[in-house]
Amino acid sequence: MSKALDFKGLESLVEAREIDTVLVCFVDMQGRLIGKRFHARHFLHSAWKETHCCNHLLATDLETSILEGYASTSWQSGYGDYTMKPDLATLRRVPWLEGTAMVLCDVLDHHGHEEVTISPRAILKRQVARLAELGFDAMMATELEFFLFKESFEDIDRSGFREITPISSYNEDSHIFQTTKEEHIMRPIRNHLWNAGIPVESTKGEAETGQEELNIRYALAMDTADFHTFAKHAVKEIAWQQGHGVTFLAKWHQGKVGSSSHVHQSLWQKGKNIFFDSTDSLGMSELMKSYMAGLLHYAADYTYFMAPYINSYKRFSKGTFAPTRIIWSVDNRTAGFRLCGAGTKTVRVECRIPGSDMNPYLAMAAMLAAGIAGIEAKLQLPPPTVGDAYQGDTGMIPNSLAAARDALRDSSFLRAAMGDEVVDHYTRAAEVEIEAFDAVVTDWEIARGFERA
Ligand code: ADP
Repeated sequence: MSKALDFKGLESLVEAREIDTVLVCFVDMQGRLIGKRFHARHFLHSAWKETHCCNHLLATDLETSILEGYASTSWQSGYGDYTMKPDLATLRRVPWLEGTAMVLCDVLDHHGHEEVTISPRAILKRQVARLAELGFDAMMATELEFFLFKESFEDIDRSGFREITPISSYNEDSHIFQTTKEEHIMRPIRNHLWNAGIPVESTKGEAETGQEELNIRYALAMDTADFHTFAKHAVKEIAWQQGHGVTFLAKWHQGKVGSSSHVHQSLWQKGKNIFFDSTDSLGMSELMKSYMAGLLHYAADYTYFMAPYINSYKRFSKGTFAPTRIIWSVDNRTAGFRLCGAGTKTVRVECRIPGSDMNPYLAMAAMLAAGIAGIEAKLQLPPPTVGDAYQGDTGMIPNSLAAARDALRDSSFLRAAMGDEVVDHYTRAAEVEIEAFDAVVTDWEIARGFERA
């Protein structure tokens, strides 16, 4: 089994001069690692207890802009500090960077030392705790897709995002020969992640030119979100080290399929998957059926957490393996929810709605909240859809960020499960994206109307 690092192990590596730098990070609203690089000796001396960051870092956008309208901080409140408290259970080596380790932090209020409600790790922790009160553990896996390019990030940027060439010239779905040509990037990704304690299962070519998928073994929800975040960061840095750009945009080109991050989920008790019931024709327990009924019933409410940008909604198009409808089906990749491992002890539900641009803590927290609501209300699961789920117009996924923002803002379910502070904060985040987009004249508008309008 791959293994992370403990505090004593870090002390020994620092003593042996194998580690001299510790990245002390938290996860931001966009699911990125944000933080500081500490000299390892200073980390061991004191920073392992806590450090600080400006509180605008959890009230921002992809550009890390200073933005109006977030209740958590403002010019009026003077943009004070948050405390970053290392969670030493997340300590691990960063094997692709010389002499470097990393730890994830919880974000605490600077004065009271309470966890900051809107912090993504805190949001997931709360739903995991609610589930634990019911006596269950959530086991989850995220299947992360992304595109690899021939050019570097810097060259792509210099070309104004016009010269972008996928690393393969043909659809590399499950292709061994084509992916052999990418092993200078993908092999270090698998090995470095494994050596950092991330239980990598596999990588494979996906259904497009230059598209890849990374699978990590299912684990407790919090670990899965931490693995996902670290792995996404690793992919960017390792590709960059090899001179290649990579994107986790949900849809980087209108002529190509998008990238998803499907979330597999099952509930466990005493080391057993309690979604399984051998007496049911599909092997689904009553608990699983209510959990899934909750997932489906509230999916529109929490779509924002699975698709947080304007671009995310371009991915939901027919015939691309991305779903368009909130329905479930048995082992059917056209539906929003797919039953996997039917009739076996590995029975689980795969939510296919999240894009590769999701923040896993937020998406998984929202799914757990929906599943819990389904269990508590003993919701009835409708019958599965059979055949091509793209045919039909019921249960459509919200078709734009504005529609998902409205559903989030108006969700009494999410307000009860996550709290008003969280819902209002992320509603503002959705508005910020919409305002930023509306303020731009796009290339498409110019090309369409410049001469002909
Ligand atoms: P697919 O057909 O979607 O590629 P895989 O067999 O590759 O499915 O499994 C996808 C993911 O599901 C893997 O990351 C695996 O670890 C995870 N998985 C397997 N069993 C469970 C389970 N009981 N609960 C949650 N995730 C699981």
